Amino acid sequence: IRNGIKQRTSLVAEEYRRLRLTKHRAVLSHIAEQETSTGRIRGPFQNVIPLKDNFVTTDLPTTCASYILQGFKGSDKSTVAQLLEDFGITVVAKTNMDEFGMGSHSLNSAFGEVQNGPGTHAQSAGGSSGGSAMAVADNMASIAIGSDTGGSVRLPAAYTGIFGFKPSYGRISRNGLVPYANSLDTVGIFARSLADVASLYKILNKHDPADPTCLTTDSRLRIELAALRRGLAPGETAGDNLHIRVVAAGDTSEQETDLTATEAEHIGLSKARYNQPRRMRIGVPDEYNIEEMHPLVRNAWTLYLSALAANGNQVVPISLPTTKQALAAYYVLAPAEASSNLAKYDGVRYGIPRSQQAPDNHNGPLYSHHRGEFFGDEVKRRILLGTFTLSAGAMDNYFIQAQKVRRLVQHDFNSVFRLAHPLMDASQNNPSGVDFIVVPTSPTPPPLISEVKRQSSLDSYVNDVFTVPASLAGLPAISVPVIPDDDMPHTPEKNVGMQIIGQYGDDRKLLQFVKANP
Ligand code: GLN
Repeated sequence: IRNGIKQRTSLVAEEYRRLRLTKHRAVLSHIAEQETSTGRIRGPFQNVIPLKDNFVTTDLPTTCASYILQGFKGSDKSTVAQLLEDFGITVVAKTNMDEFGMGSHSLNSAFGEVQNGPGTHAQSAGGSSGGSAMAVADNMASIAIGSDTGGSVRLPAAYTGIFGFKPSYGRISRNGLVPYANSLDTVGIFARSLADVASLYKILNKHDPADPTCLTTDSRLRIELAALRRGLAPGETAGDNLHIRVVAAGDTSEQETDLTATEAEHIGLSKARYNQPRRMRIGVPDEYNIEEMHPLVRNAWTLYLSALAANGNQVVPISLPTTKQALAAYYVLAPAEASSNLAKYDGVRYGIPRSQQAPDNHNGPLYSHHRGEFFGDEVKRRILLGTFTLSAGAMDNYFIQAQKVRRLVQHDFNSVFRLAHPLMDASQNNPSGVDFIVVPTSPTPPPLISEVKRQSSLDSYVNDVFTVPASLAGLPAISVPVIPDDDMPHTPEKNVGMQIIGQYGDDRKLLQFVKANP
């Protein structure tokens, strides 16, 4: 079997090499030379996976699509790469992206732009994980990994017509994911089928001691217990002898814990209400119904909600008043964190060794020369923005205000969900709250690349208006491909994604809900 895999993988690598030159610039030249994995194929998908080029790999370079990291190879591989390898999945190639994750169309790359479609009619593949999305959308792989800080998995998934899942913050280890904005960065999954999303999520959803923000096994257990309370009225108590199995993802494998009657009582479980209602309450926030929404998207949203209602779910209006400020807060917070993270790329550490740099690099101030030369424009813009908002004179007016907005966004979500935030106050469930929120992933279908190029960077930030709120609150959210209208034939320029957002930690239920409502 091993030989079989070896042969197959080198064929795949060969294929990737060929595709890279002709197709979309989705895949970079960092392609596996040979099969590195020793595992057996156990997953439902092919044994190869493309990885966004901001996950550190030891045999392939990791560049974050930046000249500044040209030739950089890490000494330790990212936990995600390790988990995949342990499972027998080979990282076959690294994928193109917006430099350091900064962008919404995968055009800000040192390797050239990712294209969604041919030539001058190419549409945006979304960003920043556009390369991973295109690799899946174009059948180069059935699954791929991206990262999502403010929408970078959900937006490309919507634009390319596939599934894109951003789990709750802290579910999947960020160890070895080159940080953009640490408090927002998450590992995301692309696939053409929901089953593949769920299988891959199961492999990666593990505690990792190497990432201090990765949920501990204890917290994972608390989250599961809290989710069981979903259907309870406040104050309801458990019956006698209630034993429930709780599954929490542990370091090595899944653990099962029996819940004793006392424990069950403690969290207020009753036998009668344990079975969660199969029909869900779906919230539709007023604030997402913006004037700028493309008619195709609005139509798809209406159709999707009607289908959910026809399946027996209850669709109710809700309000998330801070939605309007969320985008502005994100674009203060993310660049602030980025400006600090990117300070380490100084021309001395990382990337091309100093000895190999052009001699004139040694003249004048090394840091500014090197950074001026090798960072792209958008990255420079973010560093300047972030440095400004963190400076003594501007801190109170920008960074602190944005942190306050972030709290309000979290509060908005907590006040509408049925489930209390399991890590904040799990005793305060809201029986009349909603289980999930359903909104479009983006206000428009994929724009033409030529159109995007005419826009200002501010216009491009606006694409993230529907994805950043869930990022600020760390919530799980998935973009599901939908057909926008029933009469006309479907073409890629009509790709629309619906975003389903759940309470923090409710990832498993979110995936189950999407599965139950195809
Ligand atoms: N488009 C957003 C940004 O540029 C989100 C990017 C991301 O999620 N990495 O910051």
